[in-house]
Amino acid sequence: MKMKMKIINTVREFQATRKEMRGRLGFVPTMGALHAGHVSLMERAKEECDIVVASIFVNPTQFNDKKDLETYPNTLEADLHALENAGVDFLFMPNYSEVYLDDYRYEVREKELSKTLCGKVRPGHFDGVLSVVMKLFNIVRPTCAYFGEKDYQQYLLIKGMCEAFFLEIEIIPCPLVREADGLAMSSRNLKLDSTARQLAPLFYRELSKCKNLHECRLNLERAGFVVDYLEEEFGRRFGAVFLGKVRLIDNVQI
Ligand code: AMP
Repeated sequence: MKMKMKIINTVREFQATRKEMRGRLGFVPTMGALHAGHVSLMERAKEECDIVVASIFVNPTQFNDKKDLETYPNTLEADLHALENAGVDFLFMPNYSEVYLDDYRYEVREKELSKTLCGKVRPGHFDGVLSVVMKLFNIVRPTCAYFGEKDYQQYLLIKGMCEAFFLEIEIIPCPLVREADGLAMSSRNLKLDSTARQLAPLFYRELSKCKNLHECRLNLERAGFVVDYLEEEFGRRFGAVFLGKVRLIDNVQI
């Protein structure tokens, strides 16, 4: 298939190409293994912007578990088709040394929100996220960037980082996209075996239906989930659970 989308692998080439880009530039950073949740961000960017740039970069500095990084799904062929179909104009797909020419000597660190919820059990995770997003923002120089509410804490941290460092980039939150059975779409769902996949939607059902967090925890544990955390903040109920080795996160408005 002849692609209209242009793939760029180096920072230097992206920066040269960026000089030719005009108008409102929408950016959607991802780690690949794309699903309809990612595509919804691309489509929203397409509607609202003159140029859409996506990135695929599996960022090692945000993985606190080496095994999770090594087994992170890769579906590149299908990803390229999905991006092309969504009308993405440029795909930036660098390797580690392009992005981390400093080998992570420098980092962006946040000291409060990044230590709560997912940050409590994933030390360094959000510093890795913020550092890579800062780098990508400086390379891509977008007008606006789209983030899913699936990772609500991440969205808040990135928005806060832009305010703290006076980055003039609009951070646009996009609704969480679910499978028909309610399971929040996630690249990591590919790692669930068929028994775990059947059980997984119960996480969302309990999170949205149970009366309180105590009841939620009991019901999930009884069903075979290992609960990482369940908390209420920002008018939302947040949770992370394990099914076997696979960690799932979700959040609902309350
Ligand atoms: P990732 O590839 O996991 O880093 O995700 C890239 C972007 O897609 C992030 O802004 C995520 O919040 C967003 N995203 C992932 N899953 C979903 C989903 N189910 N619904 C909406 N956005 C999502």
